[in-house]
Amino acid sequence: MWEIVAIRYGQATLPRSVLFHHYGAYDEPDAPQDMAYYVYVLRSDERTLLVDTGFRPETVARRPGRSGIVELPDALARLGIDARSIDEIIVTHFHWDHTGNLHRFPGAGLVVPEAEAAFWSTPVARHAPFWSHVESDDVELLLSAQREGRARTTGADETVAPGIRAITVGGHSPGQQVLVVDTARGPVVLTSDAVHLYEELELGRPFGIVVDLREMYAAYELVRGLEADGALVVPGHDPEVTRRFPSVGGDAGSFAFRIA
Ligand SMILES: [Zn+2]
Repeated sequence: MWEIVAIRYGQATLPRSVLFHHYGAYDEPDAPQDMAYYVYVLRSDERTLLVDTGFRPETVARRPGRSGIVELPDALARLGIDARSIDEIIVTHFHWDHTGNLHRFPGAGLVVPEAEAAFWSTPVARHAPFWSHVESDDVELLLSAQREGRARTTGADETVAPGIRAITVGGHSPGQQVLVVDTARGPVVLTSDAVHLYEELELGRPFGIVVDLREMYAAYELVRGLEADGALVVPGHDPEVTRRFPSVGGDAGSFAFRIA
C-alpha cells in the first residue's frame, strides 16, 4: 500500500488552440487554459519514491507562459522528506518538465521506460519537433545512467515495485509509462502525460503534443479501461486535481495535495 502526494510545482496559462491537437476541428473559440505541473511522492512503510522531477528555473525561463511555484528540494523539505531518503525515481517520460532535477538526486536509482530511452537515443529524435520537448543535459543524464546500470528499464507492462505497475503507452511521447498504484482507497492511475487534462478523456480530445495520434487514442482507451475496473484516474497537468483532492496542510499546504 502506498500513500501518494501530488506536489504542484509549476503552472501555466496557454491558448487552448495550442494545447489541443487540431483545435480548429471543434469549431470553438480560442480561450486561455490553465495547466498545472506535478511531481508525485509515493510513500510506503519502507520506502519513499518520486515520480518525475519537474522542471528547472533556467529551463522554464526559456518557455513563455509557464512559471515555477516551488523548487523540488524545498517542496520535499517542507513535506518533511529528506531528499537522501528517496532511493528510486520513476521517470514517466523524457520531456523537459519531468526530468529537470534528476541531477539533484545523485544517489537515487532510476526507473525508465525502455521504449522511451530507445527513442531518445535515435537520430530522428534530434529533429526540433521532438527535441524541443526535452533538455539535452537531462536526456544525456538518463541515457548515461542506463549505460552505467543506475537506471533500470521497464517493458510493456511490469511491476516496478510491489503495488506499482508501469504500463508503457505511446501517443504523446513514444514510450511513456502510466502507473497504477495500490493505495488504501484502491488503485490510482497516475497517467502522467498520457492524459494531461480530464477533458481529454471526457471528450476524447487529443493533446497538442503528439507523436502518434492513433496511439494517443489507444492510451485513452487503456486509461478508461482501468477506470472502468475501479481505478481512480489522476491526469498529469490538470489544475482540477488541486480542487478534487485535499491539501496536506501545514508548511506544504499551498502546493501539496493528498491523492491517497
Ligand atoms: Zn508534462
